[in-house]
Amino acid sequence: MKKKLAFLLAGAMLMTAALAGCGGDKPADDSANTPADTAQQDTPAADNTADGGTLRMLTNAAFPPYEFVDDSGNVAGIDAEIAQAVADKLGMKLEITDMAFESLIAGLQSDTGDIVLAGMTVDPERAQSVDFTDSYATGVQVVIVPEGAEVKVNEEKDDEGNTVKSVDLTGMKIGVQTGTTGDQYCAGDYGEDAVQRYDNGALAVAALVNGQVDCVVIDNEPAKSFVEANKGLQILDTAYTVEDYAAAIKKGNTELLDKVNGALKELKEDGTIEGIITKYIHD
Ligand code: GLN
Repeated sequence: MKKKLAFLLAGAMLMTAALAGCGGDKPADDSANTPADTAQQDTPAADNTADGGTLRMLTNAAFPPYEFVDDSGNVAGIDAEIAQAVADKLGMKLEITDMAFESLIAGLQSDTGDIVLAGMTVDPERAQSVDFTDSYATGVQVVIVPEGAEVKVNEEKDDEGNTVKSVDLTGMKIGVQTGTTGDQYCAGDYGEDAVQRYDNGALAVAALVNGQVDCVVIDNEPAKSFVEANKGLQILDTAYTVEDYAAAIKKGNTELLDKVNGALKELKEDGTIEGIITKYIHD
């Protein structure tokens, strides 16, 4: 599936994510190196009901500023705060388990958790296995390269005559995080052989720094953290594609889905979600 999307203005690309905020700083860059597969806080509850009780969130806390491990060893970030706000609305206690990104959907299916918030992109393939809530943020897949690297940018006119740009990574070794949409798109667009998979974004970026890959395709907010934490890297002005983030819930658990959507709606309307996002992503 071709996912190389084009954009009207390269500069607009790096506009971030989020309902309101654009670009900017994020805390706890060092969290990017946190290993996955480690339960970070609390233990999964025996009570798996959506009715009061405990909301068990699964995430991969190597995705700043959406999720990272803070100085106290707790999972923090936009998703943790949104999940806490949702749990508060539902009168539930929140527990968070940190695991590999590629295991999150299986974690819902095996009832290891009730909900995934992980900067997870709404994707039709995933939607066959899980139910997505309404979207709460926007993500942009970007390309990180060594500073000064030359990457071909294709320009075409769209139906309305606007110039649209797309990056052309043909011939490059592309680092991705296993199981992410960046992984899917690059494997689809450039073939399996072009893609080198890593357990998390930090490892993919380390491979870029070491010259083992020529670029990394990853979501823009963690990309900013990684580029800030590693000298000599840059994010290309022309992005790969724009996506929606949503929470995922076990397929068929409509009771929880409806409750979470109801809570998200209220939290959007009263500005809570925007406030959480702009706390971490700002100019
Ligand atoms: N947004 C990307 C995806 O859903 C990456 C998410 C992540 O690495 N946490 O595939």
